[in-house]
Parts: sequence; C-alpha cells; structure tokens
Amino acid sequence: MALSVTVRDVAHAYGSTPVLHDLSFALAPGEIGCLLGPSGCGKSTLLRCVAGFEPVRAGTIALSDTVVSTPAMLVPPERRSIGMVFQDFALFPHLTVAGNVAFGLSSQTAAARSARVREMLDLVGMQAQSTRYPHELSGGQQQRVALARALAPAPGLMLLDEPFSSLDVDLRERLSLEVRAILQTTGTTALLVTHDQREAFAFADVIGVMREGAIEQWAAPYDLYHEPHTRFVADFVGEGVFVRGVGSGRDTVETELGVLPTAQSIDAGTRVDVLLRPDDIVHDDHAGQRARIVSKSFRGAEFMYALCLPSGARVLSLVPSHHDHAIGEMIGIRLEVEHVVAFPAT
Ligand code: ADP
Repeated sequence: MALSVTVRDVAHAYGSTPVLHDLSFALAPGEIGCLLGPSGCGKSTLLRCVAGFEPVRAGTIALSDTVVSTPAMLVPPERRSIGMVFQDFALFPHLTVAGNVAFGLSSQTAAARSARVREMLDLVGMQAQSTRYPHELSGGQQQRVALARALAPAPGLMLLDEPFSSLDVDLRERLSLEVRAILQTTGTTALLVTHDQREAFAFADVIGVMREGAIEQWAAPYDLYHEPHTRFVADFVGEGVFVRGVGSGRDTVETELGVLPTAQSIDAGTRVDVLLRPDDIVHDDHAGQRARIVSKSFRGAEFMYALCLPSGARVLSLVPSHHDHAIGEMIGIRLEVEHVVAFPAT
C-alpha cells in the first residue's frame, strides 16, 4: 500500500551544527516528490531522516497514520516499509541479476519469490539478463536492477538519493522518465534527491527547492519555473536574467521592453528586478524592438542567444536553430509572456 509522507517542522543537527530547520512538506499516496538544491543544502540528510537513519531534533515525520520520528522516538528503517536506491548502491557482485532481486524476499516461498522476481525484471526490462552478473551490465542496467530489487518487497515509499548521477546526461534523463513510469505503474510514493534540475523536472510531480537546510518553495515544476517565490528559486531553477523595472501601482511593471503584466501588484514607483526566461523573448524579424547578439550557443533544435538591449541590459532568447544569426547582428525581438515575476531590486 502506497504511504503518504508528512514532514512537520523538522530540525536536524550533526553534533552542534544545525543542518535542517523548520522543514515541512507532504506527499500524498502515489505522489512523486523531489528535493532539489545545491550540494550541501541538506537534501540527503532530510531523506535519511525520512528513512529513519537519522533522528530528528524537532518536529515529526509520519508515514500514513503512523508517526515514525519524533525527538523522543525513532522507528528503525526496516520497520518503515521503504525501498531505497542510491547512486552507489552496489549490487551484490556474487549474485546474478535474479539473485539480487530475490534478496529481499527471503520470507516468501520459492515459487512466490521467483514469480515476483520475474514480474520485477519484466517491469524494468531486464528479464533477458536475469542470469548475468552485475559486472556484465552497463551502469544504466545496474540501476534498473537496483530499482527492481528495491521494488520487489512492494515498499510503500521509495527513496532515491541521486540514483542517476553516475550515468551520462542522456541516459540520466531517459532513465529518470522510465523510473517515473515504473513508479506510476506500481502506484508507489517516491521521494528523489538530486541537484540536477532537468532530472527533477523529468521525474517529479512536485519539487521542494532547498537552500541552507530549509525548503524555499514546494511546488509543481511548471509553477517553480514560471512563478518562483524567491530570487534563489528563480536563479536555481531554469535559465533567465533580471531586467530593471518600476511598479506602476497596479498589476503591471514598466521596463525598457514595455509595460508588462505582473503576477503580483507592485506599488507605484517601486524599483524591481523582473525575471525574464529565454522562452519569454521571441525572435521576430518584424518586431519593432531590436537587440544585438552578444553570444550564442547551439543546442541542436535551438540557439540560445544572449542579447544586449539599448540600455546595455542583457537578456536571453531561445530561437529555433534555422535562425542562424551572427554575433554582433541586430535582431528583432518581442515579449511573449502571460505575466512576469518581479523581486525587490538589488
Ligand atoms: P546535500 O545532500 O544537499 O548535498 P547533505 O545532507 O549531504 O547535503 O549535507 C548537509 C550538511 O551536513 C553539509 O554541510 C554536510 O557537510 C553535513 N553533513 C552531512 N553528513 C554529515 C555527517 N554524517 N556528519 C557531519 N556532518 C554531515
């Protein structure tokens, strides 16, 4: 049965060094969450608190209706119905693929165990390799087996700590989508830790962006990208730049690219920095606004152009790559935004 996760006002410290504070979030049964943030912000520590490897100094953690962590009490990991996959979660080298997956099923009959192993290997597409040994598999195949092994006992919650980070970028994104599909098929609640935003976006229904031991924003990937609540989230998630603006007293802000609708009302005369994403700025030969190309990077389907506005401010624009312009050239641009997000000017 898929578990819900409720983390409420949790704090943690290693010795006298505080690492997590006032941390709260919740996952519904079957929901796939992700903790995203720079290295050292406390993601793994929080995951280890949920797993039961670390105690909490304050607050509570509950899995469905069962409180599993308080400062006075800790249900051990093996009694939490969790499965785990880590970056360096080595498979047992002396066991075959099937032997590895069967490992956590010792309480079942031999027939039930081999049926479950077959089912899990089918799920992760590794049936054909069931008699191979770990050293005969690629990194991606090994992670699939690790996932099958963790899923075999039907855990109520799957915890994944940077499970794809030893893989190359293409495989990382593909495997994160595959693993997401597998978790959805089995209806398993999951929590992933990563510092890689693309992986988080590909994998999660909901993402908590962490900074210095706290969650800055807990939201769906789309909302994090388009409506970041803090400047840190705006910077950490996705690409973009800030241009200067002045509030008009209503839901608009004046910038050198025109008057733009804002997500929030800004007092008249207030100076703000307006977030513009590369997909907000559209290249259009017929547009009145012109900008000079200062740099470009080829991304296959698109170029990312860095553009200089008349004031000297820089913006980014993602342009289909058949529009191959030279550095130094002036190109037409226009804004295509529903609304922009603004932060107090720095
Ligand atoms: P992240 O997963 O976001 O990279 P961690 O949770 O691993 O962050 O670490 C958060 C902070 O706690 C870091 O400053 C790290 O050095 C420290 N830390 C992690 N594990 C331990 C430990 N076992 N003992 C002492 N400090 C630790």
